[in-house]
Amino acid sequence: MGGAVTGAGLAALALRYAAGTARADRSWPVQVESRLRNLGEVDEVSILPVVERLTRDGGELVGEPGLSYLVRAGGTRLLFDVGLSGGRDRSALVRNAGHLDVDLRDLDAVVISHRHADHVGGVGAMRRHTFAFAGEPLEPAGVPAYVPTDMHHDRARVVPTTGPRVVAPGVAVLPPLPRMLFWLGAVAEQALLVNVRGFGLVLISGCGHPPIERMLGVAELVLDVPIRAVVGGLHLPVHPVGTPLLPQAILGSPHPPWQPIGEADVAHVLDEITARGPRVVALSGHDSTPWTMNEFGRRLGDRYRTLRVGEELLISAARSRSAEGAG
Ligand SMILES: [Zn+2]
Ligand SMILES: [Zn+2]
Repeated sequence: MGGAVTGAGLAALALRYAAGTARADRSWPVQVESRLRNLGEVDEVSILPVVERLTRDGGELVGEPGLSYLVRAGGTRLLFDVGLSGGRDRSALVRNAGHLDVDLRDLDAVVISHRHADHVGGVGAMRRHTFAFAGEPLEPAGVPAYVPTDMHHDRARVVPTTGPRVVAPGVAVLPPLPRMLFWLGAVAEQALLVNVRGFGLVLISGCGHPPIERMLGVAELVLDVPIRAVVGGLHLPVHPVGTPLLPQAILGSPHPPWQPIGEADVAHVLDEITARGPRVVALSGHDSTPWTMNEFGRRLGDRYRTLRVGEELLISAARSRSAEGAG
């Protein structure tokens, strides 16, 4: 009996998955008809992981399977996603921000890539359609928060993204792109773009669900600037057994359960990225396994970085390097 119920449940999920996938594939090109004007540019962008699964060696920084980056571009300070443990008073975001001298009250904007627990500050915040830095309210009052879907916030000024949008000089968000996930259902995810003078576009991704090749394609439809850097989560938990990434491999998969994310997916993503001639590719460990990181390193050589809490990535025309260890 139990098996029959499970079988019926799985069949219903498979039907929902097929319908959702068809809907997502139909709707995404429509959203990118408008081109982005007056983006502007910055001399340099700094991306500092404040929440990541991996941390730099030593010190008191904590890792968790979530993501939050402080992005500094021109005079703008922006927080991209807020990690997983925002339900706790001493969230990883708050603890690491303290150790890294990041003032969470001094932000010009918040950008939420998508409404998944590891990006909005936990399951509670996700279910309430909001985001949280920590258990206590720390978000700057009135700070603009660019969100990809229906969300609200008690303190921030929520601005839903409906198309490509300049959020600060040289900084823009892409339209949220839909993706159907077998277990978690439909999700819409937006990427952040920074236009660095003499370098090109830096694309910052939360989970890379849409998937990344659609984000890259949309960025190219919206702007005439080449993409030279891809930074963040690309959701490639390949060979997850024995790693902490089994939940990401199963729950976050865009494929049905009988078709795990595999080596061919990584090869395809690498083909799409390398076709753009990138100078920097930096991968988040929150949704990629050591196998995937090794493969990125093998294909990209010294253009590849693994993102770790506390290791700032600086990108400008003159230099594109990790601040740690490069002196
Ligand atoms: Zn994620
Ligand atoms: Zn996600």
